[in-house]
Amino acid sequence: VFDWRGPCHLDDGEDVGLDLTGGFHDAGDHVKFGLPQAYTASILGWSLYKYEDVFEQTGNKQKLLSTLKYFTDYLLKCHPDPDTFYYQVGDGGDDHAYWGAPEEQPGERPTMFAANEATPASDVLGLTSGALSIMYLNYKDIDAVYAERCLQAAKELYQLGSNNLGYYEESSFYISYSFYDDLAWAASWLYIVEGDGLYLEDAENFVLQQNKKGEDPLENRWTMCWDNMYLPAMFKLYQITNKDLYKNALEYNLNYWMNSLETTPGGLKYLDNWGVLRYALAESMLALLYYGETGDESLREFARSQLDYALGDNPANMSYVIGFGDTWPKHPHHRAANGYTYANGDNQKEAKHLLLGALVG
Ligand code: CA
Repeated sequence: VFDWRGPCHLDDGEDVGLDLTGGFHDAGDHVKFGLPQAYTASILGWSLYKYEDVFEQTGNKQKLLSTLKYFTDYLLKCHPDPDTFYYQVGDGGDDHAYWGAPEEQPGERPTMFAANEATPASDVLGLTSGALSIMYLNYKDIDAVYAERCLQAAKELYQLGSNNLGYYEESSFYISYSFYDDLAWAASWLYIVEGDGLYLEDAENFVLQQNKKGEDPLENRWTMCWDNMYLPAMFKLYQITNKDLYKNALEYNLNYWMNSLETTPGGLKYLDNWGVLRYALAESMLALLYYGETGDESLREFARSQLDYALGDNPANMSYVIGFGDTWPKHPHHRAANGYTYANGDNQKEAKHLLLGALVG
């Protein structure tokens, strides 16, 4: 299916004397950004951990496991010693000026930023730690040695992030509004793995700290995303402690989405124009998770309505997942799939290649 792809960016990390090849590009561009990568690894890993039986039954488990390992192999490479984590390869400005296949991309790809004691990055470290703890859980019965490496890295990154509080260097892409949510996410999973009450204490403390905008974490009007892990952390803490505090916070957010947030005439919940489907489906996952705790059918109905919309039950009668159904968007923002260059505006043409399984914004 992806025979139109080949090896690319094989010198990544050379400028810092490391092999930082692998991992995932970002959003149809070619930078490897720390926050969205760790977020994706976290949520896909959590999906497998939570719904393993479904992935098994539908024949998707092995594929998801290999995808998850592609993430964590890279994340482990970025952590060459206990006090260092490299979290961005590629310069956003330079990269975004290029339209073409990653396999043919010219120019340098600097290893931009490293987290260490002098330059904190509690957000990206917390989110990455969470992804690695979840991989430990998903992989411990498959390869115990690899799983232990993930867990060891998860602990080290959490220590580094929680002992040196501060934001990562974002260079205007993916601005981070809180690191407390990410540390709460990391500590929750470390508590689940280790059963050490100090992690739970940390998680319960961090999850109540406000973000940079001064928003109350208990009245969250966003959804889970690379910048906002308050809700998933609260969900885990609700499962662990059964406290009303977390239950009420989850219900506040779900009620807001289901009853107050703007809905398009076609039925899509509209949080933001940048990745509107992504947000609606992230919230749908939270609704399904909370449905699993409460059995409240309205939550499942809500999630189903958004999923159905994305898959074709919408005014355009079009699946917004490429390759699903009979018709889907033909111009996804993805340079490799597009397969043309800027020359003569050729990049405006329909994608040459099928970006199977991608959800458009
Ligand atoms: Ca955050």
